[in-house]
Amino acid sequence: MVQRLIRADLCDLDHEDGDRAATNRLAVELDGQRYEVDMCGWHETQARESLTPWTEAGRQSAARRAQYVVRRTAEQRRAADDIRQWAKARPEFDVADLGRLPARAIQAAHEAGVGLELLHR
Ligand SMILES: [Zn+2]
Repeated sequence: MVQRLIRADLCDLDHEDGDRAATNRLAVELDGQRYEVDMCGWHETQARESLTPWTEAGRQSAARRAQYVVRRTAEQRRAADDIRQWAKARPEFDVADLGRLPARAIQAAHEAGVGLELLHR
């Protein structure tokens, strides 16, 4: 029997109606807090349409303009792979081959220095 594992980044917003692959990461900053959500195309379209009144009326911050939409780079994917491998070796994190990485596993990996050099360059 041949088994093939396929790794996919999944939309953070898909839960009840089945998982879809994330095609983009949308970043929004509110009250000084930055939020990043990996989204499928359908949710990205919804998010962009619902934000239109604010993005049209508001001013882009020059320092942050380039960061409004952050596409996941090859380096970010490698960092996520490194973090997943690190966390999978530690049973306390219960990390699977696929799907979302638990926030506490990411935090612990960061504290151990895993993936940091790739994510924060
Ligand atoms: Zn979605």
